[in-house]
Amino acid sequence: RQVYVNGRYLPEGEATVSVFDRGFLFADAVYEVTAVLDGKLVDFAGHLARLRRSLKELGMALELSDEELLAIHRELVRLNGIDEGLIYLQITRGNAGDRDFLFPDPATPKTVVLFTQKKKLLDSPLAARGQRIVTVEDLRWRRCDIKTVQLLYPSMIKELAKKQGADDAWMVRDGLVTEGSSNNAYIVTAEGAIVTRDLSSDILHGITRKAVLDCAADLEMTVEERPFTVEEAKAAKEAFSTSASGFVNPVVEIDGATIGSGKPGPVAARLRQIYLEKSRAAAI
Ligand code: PLP
Repeated sequence: RQVYVNGRYLPEGEATVSVFDRGFLFADAVYEVTAVLDGKLVDFAGHLARLRRSLKELGMALELSDEELLAIHRELVRLNGIDEGLIYLQITRGNAGDRDFLFPDPATPKTVVLFTQKKKLLDSPLAARGQRIVTVEDLRWRRCDIKTVQLLYPSMIKELAKKQGADDAWMVRDGLVTEGSSNNAYIVTAEGAIVTRDLSSDILHGITRKAVLDCAADLEMTVEERPFTVEEAKAAKEAFSTSASGFVNPVVEIDGATIGSGKPGPVAARLRQIYLEKSRAAAI
């Protein structure tokens, strides 16, 4: 596999980053994951816009333009022959030459790394079966709107979910669901309304969330952007999650309680289908 590091395309075994890189020492880094379908980038403009916002919130100036970032993504997809899969981008505050809590000189070049992952995304066994979810307290920092590589807690709860025979964990703050370990969380009420937490620093502003809510609006479905409780979720007609890598993924169980019929629901299935049609047609 060819990867990209700071201006060079290299075999993965030859690519290196300094031990003094702030991404490695302080998780001082942001990232994006973009789906590749039909060899093209899905929702790429959204991912770029969010990347710019994450960088701005952390006071990191990037030397690369949007056009250059697009060109690098395309070149790596081409070099690795990715028809279906993911492309990962990480930007760190760079190598400060030593370990120091204070930020280095802003002129320190950022570390830019990209790699691809070949993966079957469309034909997903999890989407067909539906996810089993466990709920856990949300113990992350309070700037979940910035897409940083501080992923230890999400990693721990995903591991915990697996040990309990579940597929993923939904996080809860003050009795209200924030989001999944690496996805946004939704329920469908008895009245048929789609409910997902409103945008704030409590959640990541999902690119797929925005695209899927646009699809729901096209279909004239009712959308309520507000927090919901675990009890409300357990009693919901349907539940699902969204992410760039999972698209729309139904949920069939939460903390052992069966959701709806216990099978993936029609709202999630319809949104998955419409989202995929629309985003594939618009991929670049
Ligand atoms: N929430 C969290 C915590 C995430 O890590 C992710 C994706 O990585 C999402 C939501 C979904 O965002 P997107 O649809 O942009 O992939």
